[in-house]
Amino acid sequence: MRTDSLIPVQTAHGVDVVGCSAPELDPAVVDDIQRVWGFHTLRPLQAEAIAAGIAGRDTLVVMPTGGGKSLCYQVPALAAARAGDTRIDVCVSPLIALMKDQVDGLRTNGYPAASLHSGMTNEERDDVRRAVRAGEVRLLFVSPERLLTPGFDTWLGSVGVRAIAIDEAHCISQWGHDFRPEYRQLKQLRTMFPGVSLHACTATAAPPVRDDIVAQLELADPLVLVGNFDRPNLIYRIEPRVDGRKQILGVLQRHRGDAVIVYCMSRKETESLAEYLVKEKFNAACYHAGMTSIARSKVQERFTREKLDIVVATVAFGMGIDRSNVRAVVHMTLPKSIEHYQQETGRAGRDGLESECVLFHSYADVMKWNSITQRSADEARARLHDEGADADALAALDASVAQGRVQLEAMQSMAGGAACRHRWLVEHFGQRYEPLARDSGAENTTGNTNGCGACDVCLQEVRMANDSTTVARKLLSAVVRTGQRYGAAYVADVARGADTEEVARRGHASLPTYGALKDDDKKTLVNYIFQMVERGLLARTLDEHPVLVLTEQGHRALRGEVEVQLRAPPKGRSRAHATATTVHGAHEVDASLFDRLRTLRRELATSRRVPPYVIFSDATLMEMAARKPQSLDEFAQIKGVGEKKLADLGLTFLRVINE
Ligand code: ADP
Ligand code: ZN
Repeated sequence: MRTDSLIPVQTAHGVDVVGCSAPELDPAVVDDIQRVWGFHTLRPLQAEAIAAGIAGRDTLVVMPTGGGKSLCYQVPALAAARAGDTRIDVCVSPLIALMKDQVDGLRTNGYPAASLHSGMTNEERDDVRRAVRAGEVRLLFVSPERLLTPGFDTWLGSVGVRAIAIDEAHCISQWGHDFRPEYRQLKQLRTMFPGVSLHACTATAAPPVRDDIVAQLELADPLVLVGNFDRPNLIYRIEPRVDGRKQILGVLQRHRGDAVIVYCMSRKETESLAEYLVKEKFNAACYHAGMTSIARSKVQERFTREKLDIVVATVAFGMGIDRSNVRAVVHMTLPKSIEHYQQETGRAGRDGLESECVLFHSYADVMKWNSITQRSADEARARLHDEGADADALAALDASVAQGRVQLEAMQSMAGGAACRHRWLVEHFGQRYEPLARDSGAENTTGNTNGCGACDVCLQEVRMANDSTTVARKLLSAVVRTGQRYGAAYVADVARGADTEEVARRGHASLPTYGALKDDDKKTLVNYIFQMVERGLLARTLDEHPVLVLTEQGHRALRGEVEVQLRAPPKGRSRAHATATTVHGAHEVDASLFDRLRTLRRELATSRRVPPYVIFSDATLMEMAARKPQSLDEFAQIKGVGEKKLADLGLTFLRVINE
């Protein structure tokens, strides 16, 4: 067993270095981490959080999804036990599914965890209570409701509680995007369990939420650790939506057999897109809040167990998916804020392997969001009136509508802009962006040192239409010549010289602008028109059948006084999905071996009734497929192989590797 007293700490960029500022952990703790989890290095801030957890100091850990928050409360519970502390640690978790998966994962590593929740029979619960009494459980997962059930605190008190971790702690804050009333009650913890340290974890970066968590939980002199919000293994691409279906097929073809989440704005869209993908021979299903809870949990379960590749969902699909190898997250429409975008794309690549986030957007999305906001604000205002609410309540409503508009505009500028996406996101969350020097030692290899090397802008995929200004002038001219009386589709028809009955009837085929853009297809031209609306060159009237009219700026562009930039629909990729050719350290990943290992993992998971990632993560399988260990000793060196899994699974996996 290795007994290095100083565990190396990875830098924010995933490169291993010996931690200089990180606290030195007890060698026995380092040994635990290697033995139980098979991790030879710690991620940024994990050492600090673990040290504070062991010392019993309150903490607030803010790390992006996939940053490794769970280890921060799992390790101290074990360390305390080894040091002879007989009390247990408790973890509050909002969803039973999350809890179950975490416990399964920990037990597969030989870690003494258990959970108590409403999905269990009385006998099962009695068994867990007995095991806790017998000192066989070190970390107990419970829902907030259960923790606050009268009598439960007395029972816990009699067992002895050392620390309480609160996972997804932003649910306690009304400022967060996922407020849960039952979390609100957790403010009682401090008085219910005096002398017990509290450890809040969240992936939500906004400072008001952070402050609120500290205040609500009455954290005492907490160690606040805020991780780096950049996700260097994610490749961001943001493209104009010209033909959504064709574009999504392009993405999915790069990801055959991979886990993909596709977000749509409405329930109906998820249904029709899922149906279309099934017809195109993809293993897809839809998920939205209008489905029965049985149907929803079935989709979720099939996805987690790797029986389903693609989930086409509304944003209702999110928390509770614990599949770390999601290789792509696709947005079919513009999210309503950068916070939502960050949260939803954050579900890709939690295992640290290269994954892709693609957003298709159009100005039509902005208009849709605006009308949704308008409608719900009107309804809320009417309700407030009926209730005889005071001016303050109305002002608060106006403020929240205005806030929503600002958030949408921020998302719009990010999508429409051509600045590095990684930088934009990181700076939006108030952090400084330092591009990663990507070398072969890093967890991912993009081989590009230009900017972040992991977004469409830095990969130079963002193309502007040839001669954008002229194209824009031709479209503006088509609007003017047809009398500013038509919508985008008709104007596009005139500009491309379409031979339609309508064009003929209106005599527009004889206009000089007719066919001025005959080399472009209709969808592309409609998209250009929307971009021009977005840039304020054209306005759409607010009638039932909106028509396009030129703005002052549009007139100037038509006269050739201003330049116009239009984004062209993307053409191919400079770099495809990298997984198959990824290099791991000095070794190239054998893609066919990787596939065979995944099949083996799925079979084992099915027979053991656990999610596949509980067996091994993709990152671990990939390292096996690159290093091809020949003996148990070599197998033990792979990241993610702990003592228990070595004994339990080593020979089975070696057999497949040696075949
Ligand atoms: P979070 O809760 O922050 O979203 P998790 O705790 O689920 O993240 O960790 C994400 C993934 O990273 C998991 O697959 C976990 O096993 C892995 N992980 C965590 N810490 C380390 C580490 N020090 N070295 C390697 N992998 C790690
Ligand atoms: Zn970039």
